[in-house]
Amino acid sequence: MFYLGCHLSSSAGYLAMGETAVSINANTFQYFTRNPRGGTARALDLEDIAAFNKFAAEHEIGTIVAHAPYTMNLCSDKAHIREFARNMMRDDLERLQHVDRVVYNFHPGSHVGQGVDEGISMIIDALNEVLTDEIRTPVLLETMAGKGSEIGRTFEELARIIDGVTLKEKMGVCMDSCHINDAGYDVVNNFDGIVEEFDRIVGLDRLKAFHLNDSKNEQGSNKDRHEKIGQGTLGLDAIVRIICHPRLTAVPFNLETPNEIEGYAEEIALLRGIREP
Ligand code: FE
Ligand code: FE
Ligand code: ZN
Repeated sequence: MFYLGCHLSSSAGYLAMGETAVSINANTFQYFTRNPRGGTARALDLEDIAAFNKFAAEHEIGTIVAHAPYTMNLCSDKAHIREFARNMMRDDLERLQHVDRVVYNFHPGSHVGQGVDEGISMIIDALNEVLTDEIRTPVLLETMAGKGSEIGRTFEELARIIDGVTLKEKMGVCMDSCHINDAGYDVVNNFDGIVEEFDRIVGLDRLKAFHLNDSKNEQGSNKDRHEKIGQGTLGLDAIVRIICHPRLTAVPFNLETPNEIEGYAEEIALLRGIREP
């Protein structure tokens, strides 16, 4: 099965997202668990979630991706910000207990000056505090572009975090093609090598989601500006090699390209036409 979808607004609830996904030929999607800048989550609507679970099963929607707000920083140099982030993650994961097939993705964080080692140990501490045996949603670290003091710009940093988590069977990774390009990986010429390297350092069994984006910037720019499919420095051929990679067949791909819903529908049609002609 080829799971392909895009980022959707969660403002109308789960069932509405499922219906929108189906209307644009998507069989996965991603959404923010709350305002991307942080803030309060929508009231938990268990009827809506139950209706979505049923709808998703009927329409063969695969695993969906709940994305934490990008302001959530588990490794801030300020204790109250770290505490706020932990509480947010705990609350998000509690809500997700009701959703049948979902993974929770977050940006590892920015160490804002105290250094990568300190940052990594703060992220590990947070995960060890928040994760419990009861949580059934896999928790994914996103590969980052390395903007500012972002942690997660290399597979080694992600592996170090996972290594420190006690309940590591709950941990996974979401790879972002724009971010790894901007972080310095050669997506255009050597995606096979990237997959091998990821397998060696993190383990491919941990790759639970993929963000399919072109990039506005050159390899190694550390920028993080997404571009529409085929219009950036990666180009369509490199994107096609990603979705057709024989070792990524089970991974759900979600577009986070600068598009409204019509643009997403076109990119989905384009990519499905290539992968399932
Ligand atoms: Fe992200
Ligand atoms: Fe992303
Ligand atoms: Zn990004």
